[in-house]
Amino acid sequence: VPPAEKYEYQAEVSRLMDLIVNSLYSNKDVFLRELISNASDALDKLRFLSVTEPNLLNDGFDLDIRIQTDKDNGIITITDTGIGMTRQELVDCLGTIAQSGTAKFLKTLKDSKDAGGDSNLIGQFGVGFYSAFLVSERVEVSTKSPKSDKQYVWEGEVNSSSYTIREETDAAKLIPRGTRLTLYLKRDDKGFAHPEKIQKLVKNYSQFVSFPIYTWQEKGYTKEVEVDEDPVEANKDEQDGTTEKKKKTKTVVERYWDWELTNETQPIWLRNPKEVTTDEYNEFYKNTFNEYLEPLASSHFTTEGEVEFRSILYVPSIAATGKDDIVNPKTKNIRLYVKRVFISDDFDGELFPRYLSFIKGVVDSNDLPLNVSREILQESRIVRIMRKRLVRKAFDMILGITLSEDKDDYVKFWENFGKHIKLGCIEDRENHKRIAPLLRFFSSQSEEDMISLDEYVENMKTDQKDIYYIAADSVASARNAPFLETLAEKDIEVLFLVDPIDEVAIQNLKSYKEKNFVDISKEDLDLGDKNEEKEKEIKQEFGQTCDWIKNRLADKVASVQISNRLRSSPCVLASGKFGWSANMERLMKSQAV
Ligand code: ADP
Ligand code: MG
Repeated sequence: VPPAEKYEYQAEVSRLMDLIVNSLYSNKDVFLRELISNASDALDKLRFLSVTEPNLLNDGFDLDIRIQTDKDNGIITITDTGIGMTRQELVDCLGTIAQSGTAKFLKTLKDSKDAGGDSNLIGQFGVGFYSAFLVSERVEVSTKSPKSDKQYVWEGEVNSSSYTIREETDAAKLIPRGTRLTLYLKRDDKGFAHPEKIQKLVKNYSQFVSFPIYTWQEKGYTKEVEVDEDPVEANKDEQDGTTEKKKKTKTVVERYWDWELTNETQPIWLRNPKEVTTDEYNEFYKNTFNEYLEPLASSHFTTEGEVEFRSILYVPSIAATGKDDIVNPKTKNIRLYVKRVFISDDFDGELFPRYLSFIKGVVDSNDLPLNVSREILQESRIVRIMRKRLVRKAFDMILGITLSEDKDDYVKFWENFGKHIKLGCIEDRENHKRIAPLLRFFSSQSEEDMISLDEYVENMKTDQKDIYYIAADSVASARNAPFLETLAEKDIEVLFLVDPIDEVAIQNLKSYKEKNFVDISKEDLDLGDKNEEKEKEIKQEFGQTCDWIKNRLADKVASVQISNRLRSSPCVLASGKFGWSANMERLMKSQAV
């Protein structure tokens, strides 16, 4: 047998381990949840593979997770019968950071540092495998992949920049498949190696893992045993003069150790929504998506008819970090199951359009084949119908937030996902009716709190036909736009489009409740108050002045015209009816750079 080989961690890993150990010390519990979630992922992977290679499961070992504690020595072992790792995978997975959870963690940390550094944020992300070192002095990962006929042991120590890998030689430690983690706890953390402690943590954090989790528990049962008579009692009897011998029994507790099922294994989405509490939905969400914050909303439903599936969808309470997330639909946010078997979370717009890719959830269908491939997914009529239904349910769920008693909920939603919804105006014509009621804007009459289009329409003047807006780079510059003067005088509300994407979104919508959106900075704004006679007079009187100005400015302007739209400003630069608005021009320029 070759000796153990020593490897250095990738630099980021060492840094990450330092960070975890030094900043999460008050929240050590998380290690168990992370390690169980890895075990569950490994089981999911094996079950998925076994759909096409059924002999993978022929060894008679169930898909489960077992946790054993040795409190005298401060040792915890976590064993799964999942996919395991090859030698190379040990190096790739446990020696480098290419993995989702940890990568997300590092990225957030970096973003939060840029933003001033908030170490509380660290507690909000899944930190993965390395959280084992929160409580362990030394960690052993003994693992057997079906791709390899050997079992390997990875060994690492806290505060060390290297780890070793060797072949497992101890026959007693060989496993048929999967992974066994052995945690040798730090002196102060040995308390975690108590059966009741582990049981409590599993119930708290890993209740909804869809594989059975067994913990090794001491049990007892009572039994009646015959005992010799108590000598004192016997004496007493003698004194009483009774000679009859009484048989005595005593209740004793027999103790033994056994595996005990510690979690709930029926997937929560199969349960009746009426019987699931909000807490349970939230807990499931946090477990499944490695989130530390509660979701903003959830929706649990079953669809019937042409295509049947069950689903639980969630709106996260904050947007994923990283500026490119809005255009990245590969979020791993939707987990697809077929007949309860996890199939994939690797989608590229098949189940949700990219602007809704922030929605998280599980979808379980009985109508798709178990060995569904990416190609099938992309071409399947069933998937298309599912997508349509999912999108509708997602909109219902978001609309639900607007009705929440706590007004802050929607404000929070809009801050985080308003951009996504506006992108929907541009990319999803078919759903304009569902998107428009969700939009929010500042306005000339509401500079602090954003209003909905419904609120705008409600506040329209009786003879007002259109919805007016002005695009600007801030509320302050919108407020000071000369175009606003006439409308303000007439007490007509004007939407302030201050986000660069707003104007494009509105132009795509075109109208809301049969009222057109009208840009008040365009030259032909008609407020229905034209006095043609007077205009003619004025135009004649100042016609020459206009010509003179136009001559002076030459091709810097397209034309110089008399306007009835100004009150206190002497002149204004307006965009042509068919031209870009000033704001759009700014936008185009910024994109060209
Ligand atoms: P993540 O789970 O987000 O990928 P982790 O740091 O938790 O990140 O785990 C890193 C990788 O190590 C996993 O992606 C997986 O490939 C591998 N791994 C960890 N634990 C196990 C396990 N019990 N069985 C198989 N592979 C595992
Ligand atoms: Mg993990």
